Amino acid sequence: MTDTATAHDRTTDELLSDVRTWLAANWDPDLSVSAWWERLGAAGWSAPGLPVDAFGKGASRSDAIAVAQEIAAYGALGAPAGLGLLLAAPTIAAHGTPEQIELHVWNIVTGKRAWCQLFSEPQAGSDLAGLQTRATKDGEDWIVNGQKVWTSGGQYADMGMLLARTDADLPKHQGISYFALDMRQTGVEVRPLREMTGRALFNEVFLTEARVGNDALIGGLNRGWAVANTTLMNERAGLGSGGGNAAGGGLVQPGTVLGTPDRRVGDVVDSEKLAEPNLRTRGGSGTNDRVNKGGGREHGGVGGALGAMRDGFGLLAQLARSKGVSADAAIRQDLVRCYTLGELGRFNRLRLKAVRDQGGDIPGMPNIAKLSMSQIVRLNRDLGLRICGASGTLHAYDDEGRTTLTQTFGDPLVGIVTEVALFAQAPPIYGGTDQVQRNIIGERVLGLPKEQSNDRTTPFSELPHNA
Ligand SMILES: Cc1cc2nc3c(=O)[nH]c(=O)nc-3n(C[C@H](O)[C@H](O)[C@H](O)COP(=O)(O)OP(=O)(O)OC[C@H]3O[C@@H](n4cnc5c(N)ncnc54)[C@H](O)[C@@H]3O)c2cc1C
Repeated sequence: MTDTATAHDRTTDELLSDVRTWLAANWDPDLSVSAWWERLGAAGWSAPGLPVDAFGKGASRSDAIAVAQEIAAYGALGAPAGLGLLLAAPTIAAHGTPEQIELHVWNIVTGKRAWCQLFSEPQAGSDLAGLQTRATKDGEDWIVNGQKVWTSGGQYADMGMLLARTDADLPKHQGISYFALDMRQTGVEVRPLREMTGRALFNEVFLTEARVGNDALIGGLNRGWAVANTTLMNERAGLGSGGGNAAGGGLVQPGTVLGTPDRRVGDVVDSEKLAEPNLRTRGGSGTNDRVNKGGGREHGGVGGALGAMRDGFGLLAQLARSKGVSADAAIRQDLVRCYTLGELGRFNRLRLKAVRDQGGDIPGMPNIAKLSMSQIVRLNRDLGLRICGASGTLHAYDDEGRTTLTQTFGDPLVGIVTEVALFAQAPPIYGGTDQVQRNIIGERVLGLPKEQSNDRTTPFSELPHNA
């Protein structure tokens, strides 16, 4: 694990100076991707937001994002992309044993393994604790049966954050356990689901007599609900407005399926620059959720578009100029609204950091950030389509079509706008719907009464189906 001191006592400027000094001594474009990620991970710069005893530096979320931007600005390859860095690593760092941290977090920060999140089921989305997938003890193993759905990146994952019911005689929140499941085994069948963008970002996952060892139980038997809440909290904060990838994850996919460990890292950086010049240089924050729920360029691309548009003021202002509508008063007003929401997200991050530095907290901030992100994406959708006019009614469903559209309009931004417009329905749903975020703020932050229910006291097996 990293032996560097915690970033907690360093100012943002000092931390950025540290990473620049480290990059000057360590960045080498002739290394392979895997060798570079080993350097980055061992030094604590892959995920500086993780604790120092879990390959991080104990940095705040905003500092972790600033570090990721600094690495990108330096021209080096950033941390491995995906849900491993965003969700699994902080969860295992908080609840895992030292051995689990040494194995799983190391494999994440060095890009050796890609992860997916096996939480939602056909009858358990918002009501996640109603999940029915079961894990039954068999010697030193557990045998898992059930079905998951909406599993982003499941087709490329090596490992899954699995929630399964391990005791149906306990009330529903108490009989759940959290496992690190090997996805590359018979017994795990992944079926991609195609959505209206034309892409298949998420999947159904069928678990039939799948096996997972007792040593893969994260946080202890029947303690999965608390562990899952750590994952969900990181998801909301990480996907929230202006939050970027919480752990500062980069653009390139990790793992044994999409990963390219043997490629020269300098070539990977160059090809990323060539592939996404607009996303990297125009308006985008440089760190975004392109590789998380939105999917990466390699297996989707809508995430890149979405990430760019989430901080999309610069992109939309440029598009408005090129389409000759930048003097339109209504469009200017919405552009400023877009800018303002982005800035509010940034100020909230800074405010949270200041409060946390004093040992305090702002309850509900991850939920507010996620709600705000949904609002920004919807505004980007509506404004982008208005700016595009009739050209916004055309959408390409494959690479050839995208090239044709870009050539026709002379601007790749039109394709990004339609990607975002079609995908804009997703952010208000994933990571907990807008309604659920408001419920949480109402009940846990404002202290409003919960809905009447006996599900906290009645054994799950005695509850009505899907209760
Ligand atoms: C793009 C995308 C990626 C995703 N990726 C993953 C993933 O990788 N892994 C994973 O496990 N899941 C993933 N999800 C699933 C996501 O977490 C669920 O879709 C979400 O939690 C909602 O659950 P549901 O779809 O079952 O809707 P439901 O829970 O059935 O909700 C339907 C509607 O009812 C409303 N509603 C439900 N309960 C309440 C309530 N108590 N109060 C008020 N309104 C309520 C909801 O807000 C919603 O409008 C993804 C979803 C999307 C869209």
